[in-house]
Formats: sequence, C-alpha cells, structure tokens
Amino acid sequence: MNNNTYCSIRNTKQTQPKFQLELKNNGFSLSPLKVILWLSLLLNIFLLYKLNSAPKVVHTPPITMESQSNAEELPLEKKKSVVPASELNSPSALQPTPNIEKPTTTEIVEKKVEVESDWHIIRIQKGENLARIFAREGLSSKQLMLLLKDPEVKKNLIKILPGETLEIKLGADQQLLGLRYAISSTQTLIIEYDNNQFKSHVEEKPITTEAQYAHAVIENSLFDAGQKHNISDKLLLQFAEIFGWDVDFAKDLRKGDEIHLTYEVHKVDGKPISTGDILAAEFINKNTSYKAVRFLDSYNHAHYYTPDGYSMRKAFLRTPVNFTRISSKFNPGRLHPILHRIRSHKGVDYAAPTGTPIKASGDGRITFIGKKGGYGNVVILNHGAGYSTVYGHMVRFASKLKRGSRVQQGQVIGYVGQTGLANGPHLHYEFRVNGVQRDPLKVQLPKAEPIAKKYHQKFVEKTQQLLEMLNSFKRKLVQPEMIS
Ligand SMILES: [Zn+2]
Repeated sequence: MNNNTYCSIRNTKQTQPKFQLELKNNGFSLSPLKVILWLSLLLNIFLLYKLNSAPKVVHTPPITMESQSNAEELPLEKKKSVVPASELNSPSALQPTPNIEKPTTTEIVEKKVEVESDWHIIRIQKGENLARIFAREGLSSKQLMLLLKDPEVKKNLIKILPGETLEIKLGADQQLLGLRYAISSTQTLIIEYDNNQFKSHVEEKPITTEAQYAHAVIENSLFDAGQKHNISDKLLLQFAEIFGWDVDFAKDLRKGDEIHLTYEVHKVDGKPISTGDILAAEFINKNTSYKAVRFLDSYNHAHYYTPDGYSMRKAFLRTPVNFTRISSKFNPGRLHPILHRIRSHKGVDYAAPTGTPIKASGDGRITFIGKKGGYGNVVILNHGAGYSTVYGHMVRFASKLKRGSRVQQGQVIGYVGQTGLANGPHLHYEFRVNGVQRDPLKVQLPKAEPIAKKYHQKFVEKTQQLLEMLNSFKRKLVQPEMIS
C-alpha cells in the first residue's frame, strides 16, 4: 500500500449545485370557436349514442378527458400521486388532490376525429428519404417539388429517420392533401394542401407539470435502490447533490437508509415525457433525518433549504478535490516520511493524479499565489469571518488568477502536483480559523446562510405546502409511476 504520499508541511466530491429549471406551465385557452366546436362534438356524440344506444360509442366521450383518462384507470393511490403544476405553488397543493377538472384541449378532440377519415400512417424504412417515400406511395413528384419549397419541410423533413412515422392524407388520384410529422414529443409539423399550394405550421402541444412522489429503501447502493423503485438516475444525482453537503454518499450510506421525494413530472397528452426539479425530499441516513425543500427566487432559480430556511449549500465544500484516498490526516505529532523527525501535520493530504483540478472550497479572495517553501506552488484564500484555506503542492495554477482575485466556491484554482516537499502527487489542504490550522475533517464549519429576509414570508408560504405534500405522500407510501 502506497501510504507515503506525504508532505512535509507543519502544519468529497462536491459540485456546485446549479438549478435553473423553470416550471413549464401552459395555460389552456378556450376561444369561442373552440367552445362551439366542442359543444357540437358533444352533441354529435350524444346523438350517436341515442341512435345506436350501442356500447361502443360510450367509449368516445372520454376522449375529451384524454389527459385524465390515464389517471382514471390508475388505482386510487397513483391517482393521488399527482398534483397539477398550477397547484404546486398554491394553497391547494397542501392536499395531494390531483385531477382537478380542467377544460381539456379541444385540439386533441379535433385530431382524433380527423384520424378517423383518410389519414394513414407511413413508417420510414432504412435508407428512405422523402423522394423515395413519395415514389413508394405513388405520389406525384410535382407535389414533392412544391412541398420541398416550404421552409418548415426543408428544416424538418429532410432528416427523417428510419422508424419514424409520417401521417398522410390522400385525395383522388393519390393527391397529397395533408401531412403530419412529430418533430418532438411536443411539436407536430402540420402541412395542408390547398389551392395548389402547401401551407405548413408547427403545432405545440401543451406540457403540463405535476408532482409525483417516490420512496426507496437502500439495500446496496443509491442507484440500485433507485432502479428498484423507478427513480431515474437524474433524480438521484439531484438528490445526492442536495444532501451531499451533509452526507458523504460514498462513505455514509447504510442499508436501511430511506429516500422520500416529490418531484415534477412533465406530461404531454397525459403521458410523462420528462422529470423536472425535486420539490421536497427527505433522506434518513443512519437514523438521522435530513430534509430539504425547493424555493424559487425572484429569477425563478431553484434553491434548496432546510425546512427552517437555511441553505442546503454550505459555506465550504466537504473536499476541494476528487481524491482517490486521504493519504495523511491532520496529526499534531507525526514522524515525517522525508525528514524522519517528528513534525506535526496540520492539514489533510488528498492523494490524486497529477493534474486533477483543485476547487476553491468556499467563496473568497486570493491572499497568496506562488511558491512558498515546502508547500511548493500554493494558493491561500481568505473567506472572511476569520476563515482561510490553503492548497499546496500544485503542479500549476488556474490561468488568470492573481493575488486579490475573487474566486467562487467550486471554481478551479489549480491542479494537483507534487511541488515543494512532497513525495507523490497530492493536495495538501489546510483549514484555518483565525490563522490557526484546524482539522478540516472535524472542524465545526460555519452554519449555512439563512434565506434572505426579503424572501422569508414567501419562503414560509411556499415551502410549507411542499413539505406538507411530502409528508402526506409519505404517510401513504405511494410508489411512483414509471417514467419512460
Ligand atoms: Zn500535507
């Protein structure tokens, strides 16, 4: 065991959370025309039903409930696991009562009706382009030329891929009357032929956002537990980022630890397409409960706080480098490996390959950058309030840094090396309080920043709902839906 990556100075992986996700909210608009269309459709359905009094028509009306029909079929618990986005920051989010009746999009109804006529679906084969598809379907090359003049067609239909589908509508003599292509899960290119020309537009489907709950008990690893309980890696990484300031997920995770979280799910036509932010979460680690709740600042940026309003993000990173191991701990009386006499080691040595980036553990100002005796290339940061940190043995400094430069927590200030008195590449890290070296692994770090006064009232209002919602789900232990 190479344990001698020491230095002769007397004396966890964290990344700065960046949350910029915004709640995508799409209102439903109901123009008078749509209301009329809508009413006439209902009337049609009603008449059809009366005429036939056959059960097959009974299935039609729920089309109008497209976005709800999925939820209708779910067991009660699942039904309760969603809350419309518009409710997330309103008092009714206190209760996880989802599926609030809303006017559903009439577009969906119109589309369904059209599909029943002459539309048919073409699946794109390997090696096919628009010209080949036209040839295969017996469509006119004149129409193809005309179609290719449309800028939306050029932009979207040139790069169609095997396995994708086109919907086409044909008139007499194989004349193309309409074409639809799903650009993405939310956008559809719609082309109509009229008066010897094609007209195109892109239809945007509304994205709705709901809250969903997930729970997992750790058996082996975080990701293992996530997989078992349908929690995506993306959510788990966010979870680990939020709690990573309090818990070292590499070392502190125990069997029986519990994860509870509520998070945003974005849906189109009632189907989940992606997940958004974690809204509130609890991590029970070694029987200690840690809670975090999301709060959006006035720029709609997400930040995470404890329920009593302290930032989850601490003033100092747990470790300033992604190390392979701690090669020497803080030790007031150590036999020095090079000098062979008792010299105290008033820092922590993190062994890491040469060139590994070293991050400023907190916001601060450079008070020293350069060579200094056994430290070799060293950076000293002053963080205010009596705190300073020291980073020694660097192979080189990050560019453009000089004495007096302001650095931010997580900013790379240099790279691991073995300059000065060191017999292997490592970072020598010191944490000083009022100029005195303290053990960075044990020192009581300053408490995190509380929420700004101007946000306090809003914070209490918004976060209480989210925490209540989490607790309410927790009591029922609802399992999440699979996100495809
Ligand atoms: Zn050292």
